[in-house]
Amino acid sequence: MNSDWDLFEKTSPLVMETLRNAKACGRMSHAYLVCTSNPEWRLKFPLLIFALMSCETPNADFSPCGKCPSCRRILDGTFPDMFSLAPISKARKIQIGEDENDPDTMRWFEGLFHLSSMTECGWKFGIVHEAECLTEQAQNAFLKTLEEPPEKCAFVLTSGNPSLLLPTTRSRCQILRLTDSSCVYRFPGVEQLPGILTNLLFGSKKNLSVAGDCASSLLNIANALSETAEKIVNEKWKPKLDASENLDSTGKKLLEKRVNGEISCEYLRLRDEFLSCLHTFFAQAILYREGVPFELLPNKELFAPPFPLEKLNETEIDYLYHILDFAEILLRAMRTNANDDLAIRAFCLKAVFK
Ligand SMILES: [Zn+2]
Repeated sequence: MNSDWDLFEKTSPLVMETLRNAKACGRMSHAYLVCTSNPEWRLKFPLLIFALMSCETPNADFSPCGKCPSCRRILDGTFPDMFSLAPISKARKIQIGEDENDPDTMRWFEGLFHLSSMTECGWKFGIVHEAECLTEQAQNAFLKTLEEPPEKCAFVLTSGNPSLLLPTTRSRCQILRLTDSSCVYRFPGVEQLPGILTNLLFGSKKNLSVAGDCASSLLNIANALSETAEKIVNEKWKPKLDASENLDSTGKKLLEKRVNGEISCEYLRLRDEFLSCLHTFFAQAILYREGVPFELLPNKELFAPPFPLEKLNETEIDYLYHILDFAEILLRAMRTNANDDLAIRAFCLKAVFK
């Protein structure tokens, strides 16, 4: 078809097979949520889905031909009935908007799909880029359209942070997780994380002390992050801090403000890395169980022995899906400044009692 399609056949074979099978039996979804941390892929992938959906002369394996008028116009971005919504304001929020005339808002976007199609094939396509930037109000307004889109309309939402979306939005979409290029985790304690999470998954079931031990270990890692942030930033600013003796009081205050600002930024970055790693562990274990070869797992270093990925039985595989849901709840809670201690303890309890 085209080189992008081939790239995804190699990196996310299962996702592509699912899509081709859906096309083969005429059961493509009208709403997909594409999750990947690769921003370029978030731009490309929706086009491939739409090409697949509307291709008039698909290949023998049901992949889009790339040559028919629909395919060509979608892939080169000239398809007249393809609309996109993306965060444009500095605040990176997509608002619900006043009405259909309020550009770059949800009401404006939805209005576009009530006009009649300009193409022969009759399809209308909508892309919501960085869907996690939709406000809650905008997401709620979009739910009905996602559930029952107007005839021959299809939507693709993309997100690098799907856990920030409302569960109601996610449940109305078919979720496609693309196997990302790996993210390197460097926060202190990363080497202990797989062991702790393995205990949660395999530890004796419904055992309160397993939940308690795992929670304490996770909290130890989480609590050490602020100290690490302070150390990293102080080291970077050491020469200036050492020379601060010579500054007047205003200069000293400014420097202090700057350093403290950087410490909070570094802390948030480390914390995000920690949360993302915790989520990745379960998401990639699922990818493996769904047939992605071990060598293609983006962070296979997380699954060094003794994590017995290949020994998972059916029940434990079921658990994986549940725990991934819990991990997403934990991520959302911690990103909205819930109490770390409570959020982590609740996660561990739910994971053990799954
Ligand atoms: Zn085609």
